[in-house]
Amino acid sequence: MEEVRKPFECRRCGACCRVPGIVRVTDADVDALAAWLKMTPEAFVAEYTVLTPGRTGLALAGDPDGPCLFLTDDNLCRVHGARPAQCRDYPARWRSDAIEDVCEAMKGQMR
Ligand code: SF4
Repeated sequence: MEEVRKPFECRRCGACCRVPGIVRVTDADVDALAAWLKMTPEAFVAEYTVLTPGRTGLALAGDPDGPCLFLTDDNLCRVHGARPAQCRDYPARWRSDAIEDVCEAMKGQMR
């Protein structure tokens, strides 16, 4: 049976950017993020990315168990206008199993 997902209104709490995990970045993401931060793609890769655990691509650097390195103290995404596809597609196209535990707006919205 197909999962039913109801719409919800984001409260901009930043909780989903604190869920443990990695944010994969594609070449297009790197280009957009580097342009947003006014740096070269090479410099962005060196400063803000690491190899994914399987060494098959790149992910944002930082503690995978901590908040995203681009999340500000007031819960805003510092690169929102150029955020990676993984972030843009969340939560409309994919959701982690833990999301209902951390997202007050989404609680009870899935059945
Ligand atoms: S890049 Fe922005 S939207 Fe994506 S996890 Fe980091 S703070 Fe959140």
